[in-house]
Amino acid sequence: MSAVATALDVARARADTPGCAHVAHFNNAGASLMPSPVLAAVTGHLDLEAIIGGYEAAEQAKPRIERVYAAVGTLLGCDPDEVAVVENATRAWDMAFYSLPFAPGDRILTAMAEYASNYIAFLQVARSRGATVEVIPNDEHGQLSVDALRRTIDERVKLIAITHVPTNGGLVNPAAAVGAVAREAGIPYLLDACQSVGQMPIDVGEIGCDMLSATGRKFLRGPRGVGFLYVRRGFVDRLEPPFLDLHAARWTARDAFEIAPGARRFENWESNVAAKIGLGAAVDYALDWGLAAIRDRVYALAGLLRARLAEMPAVAVHDLGLEKCGIVTFSPRQATPDAVKQRLREAGINVSVTRRPSTRLDMEARGLDEMVRASVHYYNIEDEIDRLCRVLRGS
Ligand SMILES: *Cc1c(COP(=O)(O)O)cnc(C)c1O
Repeated sequence: MSAVATALDVARARADTPGCAHVAHFNNAGASLMPSPVLAAVTGHLDLEAIIGGYEAAEQAKPRIERVYAAVGTLLGCDPDEVAVVENATRAWDMAFYSLPFAPGDRILTAMAEYASNYIAFLQVARSRGATVEVIPNDEHGQLSVDALRRTIDERVKLIAITHVPTNGGLVNPAAAVGAVAREAGIPYLLDACQSVGQMPIDVGEIGCDMLSATGRKFLRGPRGVGFLYVRRGFVDRLEPPFLDLHAARWTARDAFEIAPGARRFENWESNVAAKIGLGAAVDYALDWGLAAIRDRVYALAGLLRARLAEMPAVAVHDLGLEKCGIVTFSPRQATPDAVKQRLREAGINVSVTRRPSTRLDMEARGLDEMVRASVHYYNIEDEIDRLCRVLRGS
């Protein structure tokens, strides 16, 4: 067994993760296993709500709730008032995207790996406001071609919106190189970082994005039903959210309201407070390990898994990109992805199946319909990869 060198105390990471005793979890791009401190933060707040009342619990937890913004700020390299905490990454992304004004003839640039929900929103806005959606081709490595992007820029481009790490395919798009192009041209840049946050260091200043969306439950290991949006301070005043409530705005006179300052304008009043506190705990927990150490181990484990799969006649690996991350996708040659997922489930191994409508541009271009997705995290071990490969081999 080839050992993956790591700076992380993997034994401690596994001891912190109750699920590790039950399952070999390779669905971290779907929802990672929560570590105990996150679970305790969520259930602790729910217990408090049950005992003293929901509003009263929120009052008591106010410092912990405020800490969530500081924690996300540390994670992304931004200030707390540049962060909105919302229900999920899709809502975060939507609040940014639907705040942008588009007029007939405006161009929206995106990439081959774009996520379905984002592309559906592009299509809706293209239809309703007469904007156009254009897809920057990939380079020879299968990542967005920065040269092609640069050549496409003109004064009608009103948004560059790409996915950093797509739902499938292992790819890491060159987000910072895209940011340099966007900054130089003064074009708003919206980054879907749903699959990269928690898996690798992310610094919004280095990337140069104006807006970034992410979720709690994926590589951050937070609870479900919570996500967040970063919007750069110098940019936020230009954005009028598509929905406003009494939290996002203040009703100042019978016929007047004022939009909240900063990124809080993208939130709404009612929220899953326990999940929000859990998100803060998950961010703190990830920061404790260190995002560079997490990335190094995730990349190494995924590299090991890809190498093993490449030796196996029973499967074909379909990953792209110069830099490959913890998401490994492959198709079995003799069985359907669903049958393989089921066989693995019976052996106590979790993977997911990813289908064309999630990343249609990419999968259509490559003639792929559905694939098995095995996404690793730092708490996975080589032994689990061995088990996965044994089941795939049918032995
Ligand atoms: C999962 C995913 C989303 C959506 O995140 P939710 O929290 O489910 O809304 C957005 N973009 C990408 C690339 C994703 O993989």
